[in-house]
Amino acid sequence: MAARTSTIGGGEERMSVTAKTLFGELQEGELGFLGKEIVRKFFGLKATQRTLDKKRGALEGEIASYRKDRLTLLRRRLLEDGKDYCTYHHGAVPASEILPVYLEGTRGPADHYGGDREYREVHWTCLACREELRDRAASYLRPRVVHVSGWKPEEMRLQFSDGGRPPLPLGTMVMDRSPDPIPEELVREYNIPPDIRLDHNTFELLRR
Ligand SMILES: [Zn+2]
Repeated sequence: MAARTSTIGGGEERMSVTAKTLFGELQEGELGFLGKEIVRKFFGLKATQRTLDKKRGALEGEIASYRKDRLTLLRRRLLEDGKDYCTYHHGAVPASEILPVYLEGTRGPADHYGGDREYREVHWTCLACREELRDRAASYLRPRVVHVSGWKPEEMRLQFSDGGRPPLPLGTMVMDRSPDPIPEELVREYNIPPDIRLDHNTFELLRR
């Protein structure tokens, strides 16, 4: 028969070695009673803290799903209006203009680590952004590679991971068409409910 794992105290709080020792050392005298009360209250607080952490985690999950739904709502309202989102200049443009563009280059001149950073990204771009990107690639080589395609992002990922083509991604995945955060003018124009964020340091709810 397999030995049963004994759980000391059942579902109650596990005592740390120090607290257990402390509790044991406290006698039933005048101060000993107070000391035991302190240890008991400490464990009560620990349990409350654990419950709070759990509730906080659930709240964070709800906030994340609200923010995601907010993006879906924007996208739907944009499409109803015949528009789509350009992830390069962060604005709404006619949906027919939007095409995915593969970009490759270095960001710099210097970041915190003291050098240029390689990047590979796919953006959903409007006509004006594509022209600007091509001009920049031709005159300053920033980005080095600009490849326009009518592919869907999943296809783009496959195309660029095959043999002779540049692999995708380097750090950056195919970018979602949804912006984060949604620019304020779009929030107003398409009547999107306000953004909600939880500030972890101050534990305040923020309207971003
Ligand atoms: Zn654009």
